[in-house]
Amino acid sequence: MKKVIVLGGGGFIGGHLAKRLKEDGNYVRVCDIKNHEYFNHEEICNEFILGDLTDPKTVALVIGEGYEEVYQLAADMGGAGYIFTGQNDANVMHNSALINLNVAKEAVAKGIKKVFYSSSACMYPENNQLDPNNPNCEESSAYPANPDSEYGWEKLFSERLYMAFNRNYKLDVKIARFHNIFGPKGTWKGGKEKAPAAMLRKAAETPNGGEFEVWGDGQQTRSFLYIDECVNAVLSLMQSKFAGPVNIGSEEMVTINQLAEMAIKISGKNITIKNIHGEEFFKTYGFKCPTGVRGRNSDNRLFREKLGWEVSKPLIEGMTETYEWIEQKVSNTSLAEVV
Ligand code: NAD
Repeated sequence: MKKVIVLGGGGFIGGHLAKRLKEDGNYVRVCDIKNHEYFNHEEICNEFILGDLTDPKTVALVIGEGYEEVYQLAADMGGAGYIFTGQNDANVMHNSALINLNVAKEAVAKGIKKVFYSSSACMYPENNQLDPNNPNCEESSAYPANPDSEYGWEKLFSERLYMAFNRNYKLDVKIARFHNIFGPKGTWKGGKEKAPAAMLRKAAETPNGGEFEVWGDGQQTRSFLYIDECVNAVLSLMQSKFAGPVNIGSEEMVTINQLAEMAIKISGKNITIKNIHGEEFFKTYGFKCPTGVRGRNSDNRLFREKLGWEVSKPLIEGMTETYEWIEQKVSNTSLAEVV
């Protein structure tokens, strides 16, 4: 039995990954600053440590002797409403950088065999993502660096941190740049949710004949990868000899309005989209519309070449499965409000 640690296992991707690692027969220790909202501890791990990984003493305790692998997914993050408004920049950079500084050092001290680090497509230069139809997210396009958010800069810094630990201390690191991962049992409300969960929640909440808001003009493009595919890709990267950094995402690019239309179609309702941006957005929310870059799509050529991996689930299928979960959450919430 292999002993592994999942940092940030109380979160969306970390929770699913820890669950899969446990199901695969590993001994799994999870650490997070919060409990998982939708999984019980027993479902995802053998040990759950509630702790703050910005504290080096906690990290020294969590990364114990005898563990072979560390999966580092803990980060101060959220959707566009959290990382692109500018209001959380200092915390995002400070907290996530501290976690990574602590983890890299402790992994060397404890002789951890492999460390997985979850970077993000947000580290790609803004100037390569201005054309919504032709964004460039090839791994080699990362430099000269020019991410459009402090969240992206921290990811780039931490990628370099882990690579430096690899060069100087022979720490075996695997780095993936995730592109919008979604699925059930993730954040679906409260301001930290991502676009797929936000659209599906709005579709579930809006009555037939109603309308819901979509931030921006809706023409910005993105791709979205279903959680199970992400977990498979992470595990195959960890088992390979390839270190990355490599994209883990889908190449099925859609506009945000197309994503909203898909959510509406799945709900079976007749709902109109209201795009809100510019001055109207500012007047309503008090900050600039946080839509991020104009275009972004995963480029999977490197992953395909090194690991032979292909995305197998079309976006509509993942969205439909996620809708079922979110719709249940929405009806439970409204029921609780009525009672
Ligand atoms: P998430 O917010 O659900 O998970 C992150 C977890 O880290 C949370 O449970 C949070 O409580 C925990 N955490 C934050 N600060 C902590 C601290 N000080 N100590 C201990 N735990 C702490 O996010 P996610 O979507 O599961 O993302 C996981 C990783 O993947 C993150 O590093 C994120 O930046 C990266 N990523 C995610 C996506 C995506 O689409 N979900 C895209 C790109 C990159």
